[in-house]
Amino acid sequence: MAVAEFDLIRRYFAVHAPRHPFNQLGIGDDCALLNLPAGHQLAVTADTMVENVHFFADADPELLGHKLLAVNLSDLAAMGAEPFAVTLALTLPKVDESWLEAFSRGFINLARQHNVDLIGGDTTSGPLTLTVQAMGAVPQGRALLRSGAQVGDLVYVTGQLGNAGLGLKIKQGYVCADPELALRCFNQPQPRVSEGLALRGIANACIDISDGLAADLGHILQQSGVGACLQWDNLPLSASVAEFINHSGDWRMPLIAGDDYELCFTVPADCSHALPAATCVGIIEAEPGLRMRKAGRVEAFEVKGFEHFS
Ligand code: ADP
Ligand code: MG
Repeated sequence: MAVAEFDLIRRYFAVHAPRHPFNQLGIGDDCALLNLPAGHQLAVTADTMVENVHFFADADPELLGHKLLAVNLSDLAAMGAEPFAVTLALTLPKVDESWLEAFSRGFINLARQHNVDLIGGDTTSGPLTLTVQAMGAVPQGRALLRSGAQVGDLVYVTGQLGNAGLGLKIKQGYVCADPELALRCFNQPQPRVSEGLALRGIANACIDISDGLAADLGHILQQSGVGACLQWDNLPLSASVAEFINHSGDWRMPLIAGDDYELCFTVPADCSHALPAATCVGIIEAEPGLRMRKAGRVEAFEVKGFEHFS
């Protein structure tokens, strides 16, 4: 890497020495050095965002920095892992200092909120591509898996469904009387880290909703070898999403639109632990597949989420 590029990293990304106690050495050497305390497992995930595939070419760089980190922290939250370190691989078509300044601001502000250190990365030139690898710690054997749902478990979701999907429709021209919440959810998802930590030892299964509840709960069902029935009347929908459904008739949207980054988890029906704020939306059943009880009728719900190569 050229000296000028390292100056950029120093200016925008190496903003402080690592603060989290697990991070011994951060940016500046050939590798970072991490020390995980005894009795913990390392949870690792990576997500890439490509211009014109995952974000619009004119996207606000500060929001992009936030969202890139948020989607990775959301995966750690879904495992019940405590995030502590991330790496950032940047492929940039050119060095645009005002873009880098805003992007790093969005990224670093969210990292600070979650006590996460940026401990390294890579910077190359090419079509705008942003990759984060995130690392979290979870006590041995306590991670929340997709494979643990049991017949009779209740299915919960945090927050609301479909706000981000509505935000995307607004960006594409849908006129909404009150667009603020939907756009905020689309642009600045808040990873449910504290909720994920609170579910350790309580949830039988957990996933984050990146591709819509139907697809993501579908992963839990498949990996747990069970099915589920959702209750339409219980789905947590904002007034704007309810209004969108009234207007368009598209009641599937909040179940198949992506980018909500809420958690979906299952707990035994007789669970007596306090749960993080969440809404019960259905129940796990032995019969495979996803069903929906709507207006007194139960029907199979067969919709795939977003598929990258279709
Ligand atoms: P090397 O050539 O040994 O891989 P680099 O010159 O690419 O090292 O990077 C120098 C230091 O800067 C390393 O500590 C690396 O982790 C860090 N770094 C490079 N790019 C980024 C980035 N986009 N964000 C954070 N740290 C970065
Ligand atoms: Mg390198």
